[in-house]
Amino acid sequence: MSQSRKTDQSIAFIGAGNMASSIFGGLIEDGWPKDKIWATARSEATLENVKNQFGVQVTRDNHQAVRQSEMVVLCVKPQMMKAVLQELAPTLKETKPLLISVAAGVSLDSLQTWCGSSLPIVRSMPNTPSLLRCGVSGLFASAQVSAEQKAITDSIFKAVGVTLWVDNEALIDSVIAVSGSGPAYYFLFMEAMTEMGVKLGLDQQTAEQLTLQTALGAAKMAVCSDVDVRELRRRVTSPGGTTEQAIRALQTGGLEQLVEQAMQAAVERAAEMT
Ligand code: NAD
Repeated sequence: MSQSRKTDQSIAFIGAGNMASSIFGGLIEDGWPKDKIWATARSEATLENVKNQFGVQVTRDNHQAVRQSEMVVLCVKPQMMKAVLQELAPTLKETKPLLISVAAGVSLDSLQTWCGSSLPIVRSMPNTPSLLRCGVSGLFASAQVSAEQKAITDSIFKAVGVTLWVDNEALIDSVIAVSGSGPAYYFLFMEAMTEMGVKLGLDQQTAEQLTLQTALGAAKMAVCSDVDVRELRRRVTSPGGTTEQAIRALQTGGLEQLVEQAMQAAVERAAEMT
């Protein structure tokens, strides 16, 4: 591990739900010692599952987890964040950990106010493919975050995919519109392609397999290629061919404008929530 840093630092996940378990699952695969990972939740049943599946340290007591840790990853739902931080404030003031929030639409200002002391805070926006270690996370650090804390945060999110830092907090809303909500845009497109495949006479399973493998292949080509996606599209669109006809129908139907409207709606919603 470049990761020698990792072995001697403990990390607490407040709210051991889907996103938290994706991240600590990635950390464990990456070699982070299980006994240095703490996870909290409200229900004993959730903690029991987490303990059995991942072997990390679990507790219902958020204070206990924070006291053990140099880093605290806040993974509760955005609407829970205020209550959780206000309750944890005295312990945070005493131990001064690095705080990392994964909550959509909760600003640094709010996080700082609720925890009642000036702590180094990173806002992160991972996405659901993190579950398969092929996520992408947008990250923004407050001025109090040291270079070492930034490096360790980067290594945490690299355990579940690619990391990209933005230098302005407002850009986290843009990250939400692109990659945070993005998987659902592709799912919708895949749904529509599968449905049309069935209308064209394929059985459901065949239509779905053709669609999903095409999406995977196209994404791999786009990631691995040394030319951009516009050029890749040009190369697979022979003049007068079938693809050209299909692309023309998508463009005259306003696909690009629809994507613009959808992403604008996501940015506006994120800003409203913040
Ligand atoms: P989730 O409901 O799966 O997990 C939330 C967990 O918090 C639950 O296990 C719950 O028991 C626990 N919890 C609630 N109150 C608590 C408290 N007082 N103390 C300790 N634990 C408590 O939710 P999720 O999908 O993992 O989302 C968590 C956060 O991740 C949200 O803020 C969301 O905005 C953010 N996020 C999620 C995604 C995603 O794709 N799922 C992407 C980016 C960011």
